Amino acid sequence: MPAVLDIRTLVLIYVGINIGQAAVLVYLWSVQRNYPPAKDWAIGSLMFAIGLFLFALRNQASVVLTEIVSNLFLLPGLLLFNFGIVKAADRKPPFNFGLALCAVANGFLAWFTLVSPNYPASVLTQNLVFLTLDLYTAYACLRARTTKGNYTFRIIGILFIVLVIANVWRVAGGVFDLTFSLSPTLPRLLWIATSLISFPMITVLLTLHTSQRLQEEIHAQARHDILTQAYNRRAFIEFSDMEWARSVRHGYPLSILTVDIDHFKHFNDQHGHQTGDVALVQVSKSAQAALRTNDIWCRYGGEEFIALLPNTTMDKAMAVAERLRRSVENTTILSPRGSLSVSVSIGVAERSSKHSSLSEVLAISDAALYKAKATGRNRVIANYCEE
Ligand code: GH3
Ligand code: MG
Ligand code: MG
Repeated sequence: MPAVLDIRTLVLIYVGINIGQAAVLVYLWSVQRNYPPAKDWAIGSLMFAIGLFLFALRNQASVVLTEIVSNLFLLPGLLLFNFGIVKAADRKPPFNFGLALCAVANGFLAWFTLVSPNYPASVLTQNLVFLTLDLYTAYACLRARTTKGNYTFRIIGILFIVLVIANVWRVAGGVFDLTFSLSPTLPRLLWIATSLISFPMITVLLTLHTSQRLQEEIHAQARHDILTQAYNRRAFIEFSDMEWARSVRHGYPLSILTVDIDHFKHFNDQHGHQTGDVALVQVSKSAQAALRTNDIWCRYGGEEFIALLPNTTMDKAMAVAERLRRSVENTTILSPRGSLSVSVSIGVAERSSKHSSLSEVLAISDAALYKAKATGRNRVIANYCEE
């Protein structure tokens, strides 16, 4: 057999690749501190690399080191790495069960190595854990929801299935091999080759997944107001262009509510800016709760909000506005000085064929809001474009 196929050499190459992978995943963790799976991948892969290195010393160092200590790193390392992937696939892995499985397996491994040495039994014990973890991870990844043609977790799931098949074949051959040898049998070579290819691929896929997730997060942040979490003006422009086009093309109705908190300057002066911020958050939350899921709620500026109501006629919009007004009126705002409340005035307008852009409709609902302010506040006024 050529020297290049020596199993120890291959395992050592695998150790080197594992250390490289661990370095990549630790870096990923350092730039993605608030993404829990990144920590699991980093620590899991580091532990796995250490365990694998100790395993590669088989027949050269003591069995305590190569069979027992190595598995104390290998099994929990794989557990963390795999369950981190399951977490990233938006599923909740059974950590306690996994830890118990590793603890029991390590107990058996110590028994089969020191007390009643039985090599095939320890190979079976170790691989039973590998197989359980890999099969569960494959299942979780294949069941993960895919979004917009994103097949990352499908591919990872398939790679885990390939690993399981290669491992089962290796173990089936190895169980009857009582010589504790490192002979390069075909199943062993195939298992190592599969691992050498699969794990770096999985690491690349996890890195891509994380960067994509980060991009989506940044995109979401850019569209939301930091205080109220309502859509911001930029998102409003995006949505309103889309809804305007849809409404014109299909002849759907489209209405707008312009919502402004009453006497908010006075509220701030009386209760402080911080309580004002709490009020803004509460008002936004209550208003949004009064809207339907298709409605678009955004903070247009200061204490002014806009609700874009697709597929909604003026009559329906008036009803929504009234519900929203009442919802805000009944909201209690907690402050150090007790419970407070605020009200809003709302202007309503609907698109008609006379309008050539949404800003015209916006101006009309603004005029209605002005009327609502002028006639006593805490009310809803509609501005019919025929007027
Ligand atoms: P009106 O009933 O006519 O709307 O009176 P108003 O006092 O609400 O109107 P005005 O537009 O004069 O005042 C708006 C106030 O909203 C002024 C500003 O202090 C407050 N405001 C705007 N943005 C924020 C914010 O982010 N936090 C807090 N706490 N207050 C804000
Ligand atoms: Mg105001
Ligand atoms: Mg205002």
